[in-house]
Amino acid sequence: MQTIENYDFSGKKALIRVDFNVPLDENFVITDDTRMTAALPTIRQVIENGGAAIIMSHLGRPKKGPEDKFSMRHLVAHLSELLGGIEVKIAPDCIGEATKNMADALNAGEVLVLENLRFHPEEEGGDAEFAKQLAQNGDCWINDAFGTAHRAHASTAVIAQYFPNDKLFGYLVDSEVKSLDKVLKAPKRPFTAIMGGSKVSSKITIIENLLNSVDNLIIGGGMTYTFMKAQGGKIGGSLCEDDFLGLALEILKKAEQKGVKIILAVDIVEADDFAETANTRIVPSNNISDGWSGLDVGPDTIAIFKKVISESNTILWNGPVGVFEMEKFANGTKAIGDAIVEATSKGAFSLVGGGDSVAAVNKFGIADKMSYISTAGGAMLEYLEGRVLPGIAAVLD
Ligand code: AMP
Repeated sequence: MQTIENYDFSGKKALIRVDFNVPLDENFVITDDTRMTAALPTIRQVIENGGAAIIMSHLGRPKKGPEDKFSMRHLVAHLSELLGGIEVKIAPDCIGEATKNMADALNAGEVLVLENLRFHPEEEGGDAEFAKQLAQNGDCWINDAFGTAHRAHASTAVIAQYFPNDKLFGYLVDSEVKSLDKVLKAPKRPFTAIMGGSKVSSKITIIENLLNSVDNLIIGGGMTYTFMKAQGGKIGGSLCEDDFLGLALEILKKAEQKGVKIILAVDIVEADDFAETANTRIVPSNNISDGWSGLDVGPDTIAIFKKVISESNTILWNGPVGVFEMEKFANGTKAIGDAIVEATSKGAFSLVGGGDSVAAVNKFGIADKMSYISTAGGAMLEYLEGRVLPGIAAVLD
């Protein structure tokens, strides 16, 4: 297979789909450039190997065609700085004659940013004619936008048909796919998944898919109480999705049939208020007081979770096991993070993904001690659900 490592870029214009959907303040200053820095290795690989880079992305959610506040021009100066000061040009549009002329005139080592793809509704519509016009700007297509890989948009998937022999993953997508596959397709056992967060409903498909591959499934966070109530427990005012009680029991049954160990909390920190100032008590997870809610896991549970994690060789973590945003209810989530760090230092492969768990590891300052952090929320979750991502399939087909 052609890869960004072995592809010959000399004399080629590489169309690189990146995710430069960065936050900007009211003065159009970029407040977090993580997504830009993440794509730099791919851009550098092209321009340092004789190619020219044509960058395409969406920015924000323009609804009515071109709008200056969503213009890619706001990113050009910073991209130039990130690339060590080389000139970065900006095209008037992402398709059309004037843009194509600028693309055609690019020399090796030069960089051109196309205007916001979503100024054209055809981008999200996955329009083939629009994709063809985009394709005319380059000689090869690189998908380095994992964050939009679950969308069959013109620039993320449909465009691939115009580059049957010249389509590649960028470094970022390549490492996301490899890391996720390491966990999902060939995990070193025991494989433990820790699923937290607030709702069963948003995690149910992932949990069902993971039952096919994990040895242990730790379920924490707000989901706990739907499982407790389903089994006849008392949950007080804790978060619960009554529509999912049946499904919770089904999951427990399925896990048993598949030989997957489900580990739920045995004790809970219950609180009389959803606040840092609340009164708290440790109670059994199936006996929460009326008017109180479970907001974190208790010490016995932490000990059980830690033991399972320490014996694992592959660890996937999605979602906090308590309301970690408040110091008072952060202990469980912090303990999980520390246990994963320790297991990782002893050779386990750990993958952390999904907005809130990434926020948690950043908050606790342990992000660099995990094997891999996936920052691509929706796309990662769909991959974990076992779905085929159009942006990945388009390159592989
Ligand atoms: P999610 O987006 O579904 O991953 O949920 C993440 C959110 O779940 C975080 O903001 C946590 O504060 C919240 N959460 C975790 N545990 C609980 C709990 N026991 N009760 C209510 N919210 C929780």
